[in-house]
Amino acid sequence: MRRPTASTYHPPAVTANGPPFRLLPRLDEENEFFWTSGAQGVLRFLKCQDCRRFIHPPSPICPICLGDDLAPEAVSGRGEVTSFTVNYQQWVPDSEPYVIGWVTIAEQDDVRLTTNLVDVEIDDVAVGMPVEVVFEHHEDVYLPLFRPVGQ
Ligand SMILES: [Zn+2]
Repeated sequence: MRRPTASTYHPPAVTANGPPFRLLPRLDEENEFFWTSGAQGVLRFLKCQDCRRFIHPPSPICPICLGDDLAPEAVSGRGEVTSFTVNYQQWVPDSEPYVIGWVTIAEQDDVRLTTNLVDVEIDDVAVGMPVEVVFEHHEDVYLPLFRPVGQ
């Protein structure tokens, strides 16, 4: 059988729902608010109380103004896909392909999350696609994943 070439290979339509297993982040004093915010159904980022910029990943000092008065604040959970890739490698036998996305939050265009895009047909994912957060709960952690707006 002839091997399909990259330009002609069309994978079967499947709905992406994230990898078959998760490596969970280790919670510490600095990042715990971020990974547990989903318990309240909201996404939070550290916000500098001096220059009012969101900061991610969490840091003890604002990289913009060097202020240290930082506090978690909720965002809308909306954003857009800035870049993405599809994982077809079956790290676990018979697992489905899934989408790794880079999502820029609506509130600030230099705050981006590396995440999974879920509840979407892989062929429908596009750069610029509006997405919203959905949380996947594992133990103490609520992983922020994103799905197309209005699913
Ligand atoms: Zn600042």
